[in-house]
Amino acid sequence: MSNDIAIELIGVEKVYEPGTPAEVHALRGIDLVVRRGDFIAIMGPSGSGKTTLLNIIGTMDKPTRGKVIIEGEDVTDYTEAQLAHIRRDKIGFVFQFFNLITTLTALENVMLPMLLTGKYSEKEAREKAFYLLTLVGLEERANHKPRELSGGEQQRVAIARALANHPAFVLMDEPTGALDTVTGSRIMALCKVLNEEFGQTFIVVTHDPGVARTAKKIYHIRDGRLFKTPPKDLLDYAWEPGREEKRRVMRVYLRILREDLAALRRRARSGDLSEEEYRRMKQTILRELELIKRGLER
Ligand code: ADP
Ligand code: MG
Repeated sequence: MSNDIAIELIGVEKVYEPGTPAEVHALRGIDLVVRRGDFIAIMGPSGSGKTTLLNIIGTMDKPTRGKVIIEGEDVTDYTEAQLAHIRRDKIGFVFQFFNLITTLTALENVMLPMLLTGKYSEKEAREKAFYLLTLVGLEERANHKPRELSGGEQQRVAIARALANHPAFVLMDEPTGALDTVTGSRIMALCKVLNEEFGQTFIVVTHDPGVARTAKKIYHIRDGRLFKTPPKDLLDYAWEPGREEKRRVMRVYLRILREDLAALRRRARSGDLSEEEYRRMKQTILRELELIKRGLER
């Protein structure tokens, strides 16, 4: 397998409640190759299998038949504990209905995945979560609980949370479903900047052609089957983030990466990391800082 393949689905089928009168064939043989740095939109009407497909790509659910391969590893038969690891390390997921923790504030919801990795002190996670909320335009709502937020605000918290650990793959289920057009396009612009500047891979399922236009590749799902040929009207124009939008995102990311660096130094000092791990992780962060510097100079 060529190593620019990030995720591969082979012959994936999903049958809910098999053998009962309620049996549903939600996916009927899906083959999909996702390459590193892809930005894929999967479009389809309600009930076509979008959420089922995304859940299987994100290892939240298992196929009835077929294989799921992530970075060359066949994870189809992994245990829940193994999958939880993969999700924590590699995948940021934006659920269709957000799944925020109702007893935590917006800020704490975004902090949580960082704290679960054990890589951040509470203070570091707090600072970084605040910057992420800034990116989605919610810094003034940081201390509100989900029930004090509008649907669109909750959705943006969920997006900030998905970005928290700088995952290689960001999977989004109808990420603009609760957003007005302007906010929706700003969120997609944010995703596009992250994709273009850091090579983060995005897979977005949506029924909104405006969202799909942000993507580099569009697939269509109908009745559990995936199709490549997009209708012409979707290809006619692509949405581009403006120069200012891009610079804004990059500036906030500069601060986020500095927090990462501080957290890493602290862990190295406290003996939490081997010399080797420290060097490797520091290299990664420095490389991203370099990318930002170049991005800002452009
Ligand atoms: P979409 O996200 O495109 O609206 P879904 O993936 O949610 O579609 O659903 C695809 C089909 O599978 C639908 O017919 C839906 O009713 C059915 N389905 C989804 N989840 C379940 C489930 N947990 N149990 C039974 N049927 C389900
Ligand atoms: Mg859905």
